[in-house]
Amino acid sequence: MRQQQPIIMFDIQAIRKDFPILSTQVYNKPLVYFDNGATTQKPQIVIDTLTEYYSGYNSNVHRGVHLLSQKATDAEEAARATVQGFINAARPEEIIFTKGTTDSINLLANAYCKAHIRPGDEIIITQMEHHSNIVPWQLAAEERGGIIKVVPLQEDGSLDMNAYKALFSPRTRIVAFTWVSNTLGTVNPVAEMVQIAHEHGCHVMVDAAQAIQHLVVDVRSMDIDFLVFSGHKIYAPTGIGVLYGKYDLLAALPPYQGGGSMIKTVSLPTGTTYAELPHRFEAGTPNIAGIIGLGAALKYVADKGIEAIAAHEHQLLEYATQQLKQIPGMRIIGEASEKSATVSFLVDGIHPFDIGELLDKQGIAVRTGHHCCQPIMDKYCIPGTVRISFAMYNTQAEIDIMIDALKRAIVMLG
Ligand code: PMP
Repeated sequence: MRQQQPIIMFDIQAIRKDFPILSTQVYNKPLVYFDNGATTQKPQIVIDTLTEYYSGYNSNVHRGVHLLSQKATDAEEAARATVQGFINAARPEEIIFTKGTTDSINLLANAYCKAHIRPGDEIIITQMEHHSNIVPWQLAAEERGGIIKVVPLQEDGSLDMNAYKALFSPRTRIVAFTWVSNTLGTVNPVAEMVQIAHEHGCHVMVDAAQAIQHLVVDVRSMDIDFLVFSGHKIYAPTGIGVLYGKYDLLAALPPYQGGGSMIKTVSLPTGTTYAELPHRFEAGTPNIAGIIGLGAALKYVADKGIEAIAAHEHQLLEYATQQLKQIPGMRIIGEASEKSATVSFLVDGIHPFDIGELLDKQGIAVRTGHHCCQPIMDKYCIPGTVRISFAMYNTQAEIDIMIDALKRAIVMLG
């Protein structure tokens, strides 16, 4: 279990100063950045960490006897230990570095299906998944003759838990679902879903792309088998992500990609033997700067306190929802009782893209479209939504600016 966190003062103005981009302007207006679900901004400490690596000890890892290579290797392994601590994994070898959530899911879907899926075996996903947690399973299942089953959404944007329970059969092997919906903001009951899956003897993969930056993620207390996330959504660089897996489960999977670093021995006549975890799943030169940057970002978040961040973002979510609801013609898409940091909406008779464009001209960055969740759009029979998504540095004053700009946009478009 995690140690009790000390109560940390949440100094929002000091936090904002840590992110240089927040004091820039777009179209001569102060930037209001509400597209954090797509990617978060980077604090100076992360930017500095990348610069220090490239200007001070840039080198390849694990191969060289020279000092720079040792420094880079030490920094990489220190970052692995930081990730381990951040999600409370049992061992550093359980942390596999990937390019991001999508890459992690492709790795797992391929390796898992090869090891465990026979024709007629079943994989459960949900209707609220990002395409990244649908398509890799479809591809891998198709190759192995596996069947995908889908937990339906209820009208409020929560999962139909009775349907979930009813989907299990003796052929179900794994459940792969998102912790937090990137479109609806719904927080799924992870502990309960894991428990139900385990009662049926199934494994669980949790997509934490929208959870890691907003909630306490403790893989051991929730008994999560596999978990994936992207660095760039938690203040780290792009191109770096994590696949966590329980040691024995990962060790039983076949390699995904072949290449340097993932082997023990290679012989042309007798073939190849593979490295131990984690290197067995890390073929080729890794994103060393990204890994070190991820370590710096996670330390920064831990220093601010994930509980304090969650509480701040929850206030923003409640305030924004309440303000949006006062606008005539407003329709919030996703009103589950448990939500985190994201609001999707539509205004009667106005295309979401037009709202997004007019907000942009006011310096406000939001996302419009299907958010890589077409099955959610099909469920609500809508083409897309406007989505605002918060990070630790957003403020109530920014929500006020957005609401005013939105009202002006509606008058112009109405
Ligand atoms: N899953 C969820 C829930 C997401 O929000 C995202 C990114 N929007 C992804 C997966 C894919 O992440 P990435 O593009 O960083 O691989």
